[in-house]
Amino acid sequence: MLGYAGWRTFSYSNADECYACKRPIHAHSKTVAVANGHARLFCCPACALSQHEQAGKPIQVTQLTSFLNGKALAPENAYVVRGSSVNMCERTHELIEDDKRSADLRYDRCAPSLIAFAQRGEALAFAREHGGEVVAFREAAAAFVK
Ligand SMILES: [Zn+2]
Repeated sequence: MLGYAGWRTFSYSNADECYACKRPIHAHSKTVAVANGHARLFCCPACALSQHEQAGKPIQVTQLTSFLNGKALAPENAYVVRGSSVNMCERTHELIEDDKRSADLRYDRCAPSLIAFAQRGEALAFAREHGGEVVAFREAAAAFVK
């Protein structure tokens, strides 16, 4: 496990790839979190918070990105829409392609999606159009802590 972590550190120079799932990072869902003492880039808040869950160690999300304008957001004040029909990390394509791996992929660390907004009003407007539930980011994050 330690060797694996070292390899991840080495590969960090590729900033366009999610630290956890290796998916390309979408500019409007980029998430920064501190894992094992290092700031890491994640493809979306759900993926970063899943990292917490799987590693069993605390991970701290330090920056979110506004879905509307791609600007950095402080997690303390941000709102997210959870479980909408929009998922920047959608991998339906692969699910269909490879039946053997479907058991693994049924659990998608990026689903249900979390889409971040600076204002609650923005999140509510998004949820009206795409479904999902509006919650403060810290509430959404707390839901991942077991
Ligand atoms: Zn990811």
